[in-house]
Amino acid sequence: MDSKQFREAAISSIDDIVKYYDNIEDHKVVSSVEPGYLRKLLPDHAPEDGEAWAEIQNDVQSKIVPGLTHWQSPNFLAWFPSSSSYPAMLGEMYSTAFTGAAFNWICSPAVTELETIVLDWLAKAFALPECYLSTGSTHGGGVIHGTASEAIATVMVAARDKYLREATAHLSGEEQEDAIALKRSKLVALGSAATHSATKKAAMITGVRFRAVPVHAKDEYKMTGEGLRTMIEELRAKGLEPFYVTTTLGTTDTCSTDDFDSIAAVLEELAPPGKGEIWVHVDAAYAGVALICLEYQHLAAQFHRFHSFNTNMHKWMLTNFDCSVLFVRQRSWLVEALSVTLAILRNDYTDSGLVTDYRDWQIPFGRRFRSLKVWFVIRSYGIKGLQAHIRKHVGLGETFAELVKSRSDLFEIVSGPRFALTVIKLKTKGAAATLEEQNALTQKMHEAVNAGGKIFLSSTVVGGIFAIRHCPATPFVEEQHVRKHFEVLVEAAEKTTA
Ligand code: PLP
Repeated sequence: MDSKQFREAAISSIDDIVKYYDNIEDHKVVSSVEPGYLRKLLPDHAPEDGEAWAEIQNDVQSKIVPGLTHWQSPNFLAWFPSSSSYPAMLGEMYSTAFTGAAFNWICSPAVTELETIVLDWLAKAFALPECYLSTGSTHGGGVIHGTASEAIATVMVAARDKYLREATAHLSGEEQEDAIALKRSKLVALGSAATHSATKKAAMITGVRFRAVPVHAKDEYKMTGEGLRTMIEELRAKGLEPFYVTTTLGTTDTCSTDDFDSIAAVLEELAPPGKGEIWVHVDAAYAGVALICLEYQHLAAQFHRFHSFNTNMHKWMLTNFDCSVLFVRQRSWLVEALSVTLAILRNDYTDSGLVTDYRDWQIPFGRRFRSLKVWFVIRSYGIKGLQAHIRKHVGLGETFAELVKSRSDLFEIVSGPRFALTVIKLKTKGAAATLEEQNALTQKMHEAVNAGGKIFLSSTVVGGIFAIRHCPATPFVEEQHVRKHFEVLVEAAEKTTA
């Protein structure tokens, strides 16, 4: 493909993409293809000769689009959104055009410097304490990872090394090595029962135990300081060493936020700096971007006592997948755990200590130019536009919850609305129904709604209750859609309970 052909192909592809977005509601939100559908449509072998772009583009429409679930549809209400925008798509386009591995500053200074600047913009917009700024007093800063899971695995590695280093600082040589080896086998990473599985996976990768602090309906499924205290004391009584905890702002099941105040107070007492300090990470994968709104910024009040924070721009902040922003209070914690300098990487700029080499802040070596799309999104919408985006969805969540309450004969709210998410269950007629029977009915209704293809919702189990999650946070969802979603649910509920 030469540049003239590229221009024609790109214009035609952009036309296709715009048409797709303009007519997104025409698509059934979940694909109805059967497993293995694509193998039947594509040849067994790669083509020997190159094909014309028009043929390839046609196949996108005829073979790929039918197998898509339409995440940008206003009828997509499942899990959390993975929202997109045109400015972010343009960012992706430039990023791939300027493609490179960009592991060190010298690989493309603009890649590193833009990332540092836009992450400082975000830290300020989210009202994170100044210690998370690259220019902050503790030499912190932000970095873009692909996903929250990557960010959590990375900080867990840094937390492990920091803990082991500090716990054995009085030793040296072989004695220190032996002490580290012994302690490694006793380490425990913590989360709560409502923490996303990314933390358990990070513990598997890091080679440490994982334990979950129980959460309860009476506390709205939040991890509390007291729950954490009990877990830490139990583990220490068994000779184990908790070194890390994931706290959550916006849990996956119910969008609860852990009780940061009591957690900070308990850790100050049980694990103060220098005495078995426990690294506190705040996983705010979905809801963290709401900190851009003043009314949520009080949630960051304790973050100066914690160690790291991540949120996904690609979930609720109009930035196409993938883009998880991670902030640390002290960047040397990452660098000390992850820096390996080979002879081939040496350069005067790195040696000068004046530049950031982001390869030392992450697990992969090479990295994409992701900050372009963040820069384009922030500049195109402005902070006010992004606040309006979040508030619109929070308002839609409240509208949905009001509708649910208006049919208390059919539904019960299990939790929410919080950050646009409402979790509901079917109300069964006849109070004698057991929990299992109630769950079976809600599940039946959920399956019927998804099979109907008008809307797509995911389910969860909270406190033993099978429940349906409604999260209207995709870019084009409006009140009229939420009312339609509710009608679909009412119809299904009436049929299920008839
Ligand atoms: N943390 C929370 C609270 C989540 O809800 C999710 C996914 O929904 C994740 C982590 C994992 O996100 P990622 O796909 O970016 O790893």
